[in-house]
Amino acid sequence: MNAPRHDWSLAEVEALFALPFADLMFRAQQVHREHHSANAVQMSTLLSIKTGACPEDCAYCPQSVRYETGLEREKLVPLDEVRARAQAAKDAGATRFCMGAAWRSPKKKDVEAVAAMVREVRALGMETCATLGMLTRSQALELKDAGLDYYNHNVDTSPEFYGEIITTRTYQDRLDTLAAVRDAGLNVCCGGIVGMGETVRDRASMLATLANLPQHPESVPINQLVRVPGTPLAGAAAVDPFDFVRTIAVARIAMPKASVRLSAGREVMNDELQALCFLAGANSIFYGEKLLTTGNPDVARDRALMTRLGIEPLIPAGLAAGNGDAQPGEHVHGPGCAHEPTTARPTAACSATRQR
Ligand code: SF4
Repeated sequence: MNAPRHDWSLAEVEALFALPFADLMFRAQQVHREHHSANAVQMSTLLSIKTGACPEDCAYCPQSVRYETGLEREKLVPLDEVRARAQAAKDAGATRFCMGAAWRSPKKKDVEAVAAMVREVRALGMETCATLGMLTRSQALELKDAGLDYYNHNVDTSPEFYGEIITTRTYQDRLDTLAAVRDAGLNVCCGGIVGMGETVRDRASMLATLANLPQHPESVPINQLVRVPGTPLAGAAAVDPFDFVRTIAVARIAMPKASVRLSAGREVMNDELQALCFLAGANSIFYGEKLLTTGNPDVARDRALMTRLGIEPLIPAGLAAGNGDAQPGEHVHGPGCAHEPTTARPTAACSATRQR
């Protein structure tokens, strides 16, 4: 039994990275199948609700006001447009709608505006997620009260490498926001980026940091750096695809119950690499043509890939119709599910999926 642990040493996590590829994939599959459906992927759509002009200096980010990336700044998106975009995402098959704003930390009026958006999206029957920068506990509580399900705040990289990437806020600031979010009873979405010039030890250290939090994040996005011209990391060396897959696999093993999200960078990945990521334990993707400001595979390509791989959309138990006897965290059948769409409980063929 691969029960969640919170006492990972750096050496243990590094040893996972050092396993022969086939051995690492085998272990990741064992853990994955113990805690999740082998063939279900959760789909989120991400909307930038306020774009650009961010005062922070994250070296990978085109939204920083410090870099000339040609990005057009946009004010807060009106409520009507948020509702329409969420409805379109739902119609396309997404179950969670994530709203991202390029703020260092939101002001009071910003939190009120986002809370109104959360209420609208929740009313459509979707899960909600927001990423708004640093958050206090009272702000997190206000968003939780509005119906927010998840808050995203990435650690980005290891504590040791962090200073090479961001200087305008500390690693501890990040951990403080995560603690405030957790304290407010929100689900935590927290991961990082591969390909910023970090070492394998840094990747191991980042995952050990996340795995040793008092409670694992429910969602762990693993991003491949999108090298945006004009940012300091535009010329970063490309990541070896197998090293990226290894990072997914180690995240799966170290945080067995988390949803591991194959996140930014998918646009430049071929189908074979994405399939390897799913085999390594990724069971969540961003779905829709755009991430915050960078590209993403189009919906038709994703649907075709899912069909080719026999992957079904994971419908969170709380959202599916007719699932009165489903337990929180269980997979239930929904549109596009290949197995007995009228049953509320997973069949043996479908198997139980944890979605925490
Ligand atoms: S990653 Fe977020 S905080 Fe950093 S510059 Fe971009 S928008 Fe600002």
